[in-house]
Amino acid sequence: MNAFKLLNTFKVSNQTNSILAARKKPYENPFQNFKNLTGIDMRATAIESIETIIVDLPTIRPHKLAMHTMQNQTLVIIRVRCADGVEGVGESTTIGGLAYGNESPDSIKTNIDKHFAPLLIGQDSGNVNAAMLRLERSIRGNTFAKSGIESALLDAQGKRLGLPVSELLGGRVRDALSVAWTLASGDTAKDIAEAEKMLDLRRHRIFKLKIGAGEVNRDLSHVIAIKKALGDRASVRVDVNQAWDEAVALRACRILGANGIDLIEQPISRHNRAGMVRLNTVSPAPIMADESIECVEDAFNLAREGAASVFALKIAKNGGPRAVLRTAAIAEAAGIGLYGGTMLEGGIGTLASAHAFVTLNTLGWDTELFGPLLLTEDILSEPLVYRDFQLHVPHTPGLGLSLDEERLAFFRRDKVSRITSTAVHQA
Ligand SMILES: [Mg+2]
Repeated sequence: MNAFKLLNTFKVSNQTNSILAARKKPYENPFQNFKNLTGIDMRATAIESIETIIVDLPTIRPHKLAMHTMQNQTLVIIRVRCADGVEGVGESTTIGGLAYGNESPDSIKTNIDKHFAPLLIGQDSGNVNAAMLRLERSIRGNTFAKSGIESALLDAQGKRLGLPVSELLGGRVRDALSVAWTLASGDTAKDIAEAEKMLDLRRHRIFKLKIGAGEVNRDLSHVIAIKKALGDRASVRVDVNQAWDEAVALRACRILGANGIDLIEQPISRHNRAGMVRLNTVSPAPIMADESIECVEDAFNLAREGAASVFALKIAKNGGPRAVLRTAAIAEAAGIGLYGGTMLEGGIGTLASAHAFVTLNTLGWDTELFGPLLLTEDILSEPLVYRDFQLHVPHTPGLGLSLDEERLAFFRRDKVSRITSTAVHQA
């Protein structure tokens, strides 16, 4: 072997060693640059692969909403693997296929696999702003999918730097979040019994009732009976999920306000913004915008027009834990109250939301981060900590969770086809 060849062999072997060393020591020297074997500059924090997994999990009971009754919940789990061996985990979850929003679990998976991943592979996972801007320039909408990706990037960077995601977002000002529970059996006596149980367990003292699917007077009687039974021991609120028209809402909001209901969520269609402004002017109970906010720009327009007194913050509808803070900033500047909303995510999406919400200056209407409690199974090694009416947010690096690989393998939707294809391969 001549000297030139020997030198080259030495260089390649040295380079391979340096790449492998970075992979073996994920928390050391994270921003080191290297050239790959084809001579392209790579960062040790480059994104190597993105995997999306659809998971179906059973719920503790049917969950009735105006537009859909959930019998189970479907999560899209996102695993972003980086060249330094760090893996970030995110979740993109919606309710009832396409019943709630314009992304379904299937479209989220397909769009991330076919459109997001090619844009992100090889990019620096440690620069969340640059990665999300790259997506924003080429992909319209798709905030649910973007939220899962942004969560995974933040999780990876937090693990790499040894910091909780809340600290990457500027630092937490609280460690725990009060959590509302949704009473959604549709049966008054059952809902009262469920609320009493939650008060006894010291798990929830804020209750949200999903109404709008039934006849309006019956819905109002149902809500008022529950408020009478619970009295001052609990805050009772309603979520109409856009089901009423403006005329019905005008009458119903007055009745609800007069009977001690604290908050009325999205009483009419998101498209009737002028109607929301009129309702917000006359309703004795504050009006909260939820479906009305499909992006940060919606939040700005609602604030400018005075269409709501409270905003529901959802990472899925803003494009991630970092993005949702932009909506919160608009609300704060406009004097609008904040409520930490959920898309009934499992543990991953719930923690991604929680890390953003603990950084807010004010969160006057608390949160509804109870998604994991609605599921009979989760795919995390350790369940989230709910205690004394609050969700306690971990201080460990990243989102502060680890996946239970066996449970994930069991609940993934493609389990059957994967087993079959493995069996065929082995045969
Ligand atoms: Mg809602």
